[in-house]
Amino acid sequence: TEEMVRKSEMLSMIGQLAAGVAHEIRNPLTSIKGFLQLMQANATKNEDYFTIMLTELARIEFIISEFLVLAKPQLVMKERRNLIHLLQNIIVLVETHAILNNVQIFLHFEPELPLILCEESQLKQAFVNIMKNAIEAMPDGGELLITVNCEGNDRVVVQFIDDGVGVPEEIMPKLGEPFYTTKEKGTGLGLMVSYKIIENHRGHIQVRSTPQKGTTVEIQLPTE
Ligand code: ADP
Ligand code: MG
Repeated sequence: TEEMVRKSEMLSMIGQLAAGVAHEIRNPLTSIKGFLQLMQANATKNEDYFTIMLTELARIEFIISEFLVLAKPQLVMKERRNLIHLLQNIIVLVETHAILNNVQIFLHFEPELPLILCEESQLKQAFVNIMKNAIEAMPDGGELLITVNCEGNDRVVVQFIDDGVGVPEEIMPKLGEPFYTTKEKGTGLGLMVSYKIIENHRGHIQVRSTPQKGTTVEIQLPTE
């Protein structure tokens, strides 16, 4: 039946994910093990080894924290939140990252927007992931414009508009796939996790992009 097909697709998806996670975690672990062995052999002069081990451990922590969101079956604590306040808080969080990349962030919104029923920490994570991608897409600087508007009485639309490198058309279907990344230090998990979070909020997310011109990530969230 259709339901069985859907389930088996989901199971194979989970298997792929697990295999991917195992692979991603194995490399930093191998590195840590190697350096521990070196330290054993050479007990003095090991500051560099410590730095590398701590970096690799931080990477494991980061990959696992990105993944834990997916393990949560549904939202636990939903509260009514003002999206503008939420976005203003996040802008503060990513500001140093933006300044280092010569990126200016603007927030435009209509007055009197309705509150959104959400799990704040999750929605923040999705927005941070999307904003970081936008900033990373503008290595020579640029502008990130965030707009928030009401559509009808029942939806709020948030757009993240960058003028960065964009995404080639043939790559678009890969966005949100686990471990798809074009970055040397990327995890390829940020978008997948963001899609999942928006889905958990009964919202929609859409990416439009023109290579060399920029990318717009549009999120629609229900107000009820
Ligand atoms: P990561 O950022 O670790 O690479 P993501 O899942 O966040 O993983 O993004 C996956 C890929 O999608 C990125 O490596 C990049 O190629 C592409 N991408 C995402 N957002 C943008 C954007 N705003 N502009 C250009 N490319 C993007
Ligand atoms: Mg990312």
